Amino acid sequence: MDFAAACRTVERTLRSAAVRAALAAAVTAAALAGAAPSLQARDLDPLKPEGFKLPPVAIDAQLTGDQQATRLAFTLSAAVEPKVRMLEKPDRIVIDLPEVNFQLPPDLGRKGRGLVKSFRSGLMAQGRSRVVIELASPALPVRVASEPVMGGAASVLAIELKKADREAFAKAAVPEIREDAAAGRVAGPVDGRPVIVLDPGHGGIDTGAIGVGQTIEKDVVFAFTRQLRDKLEASGRFKVVMTRDSDVFVSLRDRVKIAQAHNASLFVSIHADTLVVSPEVRGMTVYTNSDRASDAESARLAEAENKADSVAGLDPNEDPEEVAGILSDLTRRETRTYSHLFARTLVGQITAASRLNKNPQRSAGFWVLRAPDVPSVLVELGYLSSKSDVQLLTQAEWRDKAAEAIASSIGAFLAPRIAQQAAAAPR
Ligand SMILES: [Zn+2]
Repeated sequence: MDFAAACRTVERTLRSAAVRAALAAAVTAAALAGAAPSLQARDLDPLKPEGFKLPPVAIDAQLTGDQQATRLAFTLSAAVEPKVRMLEKPDRIVIDLPEVNFQLPPDLGRKGRGLVKSFRSGLMAQGRSRVVIELASPALPVRVASEPVMGGAASVLAIELKKADREAFAKAAVPEIREDAAAGRVAGPVDGRPVIVLDPGHGGIDTGAIGVGQTIEKDVVFAFTRQLRDKLEASGRFKVVMTRDSDVFVSLRDRVKIAQAHNASLFVSIHADTLVVSPEVRGMTVYTNSDRASDAESARLAEAENKADSVAGLDPNEDPEEVAGILSDLTRRETRTYSHLFARTLVGQITAASRLNKNPQRSAGFWVLRAPDVPSVLVELGYLSSKSDVQLLTQAEWRDKAAEAIASSIGAFLAPRIAQQAAAAPR
C-alpha cells in the first residue's frame, strides 16, 4: 500500500470511528434525557425490583428499498425481542416489543417508501410497545431481528419485507385476541357522587392529529383533560375517572367499557383534530352520536376518529352493536336525549369562555360515544389545522377558562340529580 492509500484508510477509519462515537453519545444522551426522571425516582425507591432495567431508547428509524423489498431499521440503545403478526383490512404488519422509549419525531413515519405506506411506533400499555407498519401492497417479513452495531454499543431492529401476493398475505394474517382492559378497572365502592368519565383522545402509539407547528393532539388533549379533572375534583361534587392517566394507548371499545363499568353519569371525550378539507374552520364544537351525520364534515371526522384502533394495530372489524347488550329502547332514547341536552348546556356555557365553531352542535357516528346507557359527548377543543386555534389551545389562560366553562356546564347539567340524591338521603 502506498502512503496516500494508507492515509485514506486511516482517514476513513477515523471518520467512521468519529461517527460511531457520535452515535453512541447520542444514544446515551437520548437514553438519559428520556429516562432521567424515572431513573431518579426509581433509584430512590427502596422497593425497586431486583434487576430493574430502563427501557431501551429508539433514536432513529430508516426506510430503504423499493416495491419489491423494503427494509425498516430502528436504531436502539439495546437489543429487543420482537413478535410479529400480520393484519388485513387494512394490510398491516404489527411488531410487538417490550417497552421501548421512542424518541423519534412524531411525523417520522408518515411518509412511506416501497412496500411501506407509513409506520408508527409507541407505547401500547405499561411495559409494552409496538410498531405498526401500514403496507402499500401485500408484503411479508422475511427477517425481523435485532443486530448489534457500533461494537455492541447500540442495536438495530431490522424489519425486512418482501412483496407477497394477496393470498399468501391473507393466509398469514391473524386477528388479535383482545385483552379486556376495562374489566380490571371497575370503580371501588360507590360513594353516591355522580361519576364523570373524562376521555383524553388517542395516546401511546396513536398520536392523533399532528397540526400546525407540530402540535400533537394526544398531548394537547391530555394536558387539557387533566386540568378539567382537577377542577371537577376540587368541587367535591363528582368522582372523576380518566380513561387514560398517562401517554398510553386505550382502544375505543375499552373507553366505552370504562364508562359503562363505572356506571358513569356522563362521558366526555376530548379531542383537537385537524380538518384536511377545511383548514380555515376553527372554534370549539360539541358532537353527539347519531346514525346519520349532521353534515359531511362531521361524517369525515367520525370516520377518521373510528380508525384509532386500526392505527394501533387492532382489528377494527368488531360489531358496534356488541356493547349494546340487552338494554331497552327506552334507555337508548333517554341516553340520546340526555346527550343532546348536555351538548346544548355545554355550548351555552362555552359561548362566554371561548370561540365556538359557527355550527357548534353537531352529530355523527362516533364509536367512542356509543354506550347506550351513558350520556356521551365528544368535544373538539378546536382544530389543530387552524393556526389561531393552535395559538389558543397552547395558551394557559385559554385552557383555564375553557376547562372552567366545561366544568361548570357539567355542574349545571347534573345539579338536578345531585339535589334529588341529597333530598332522598337519610338524615
Ligand atoms: Zn382526535
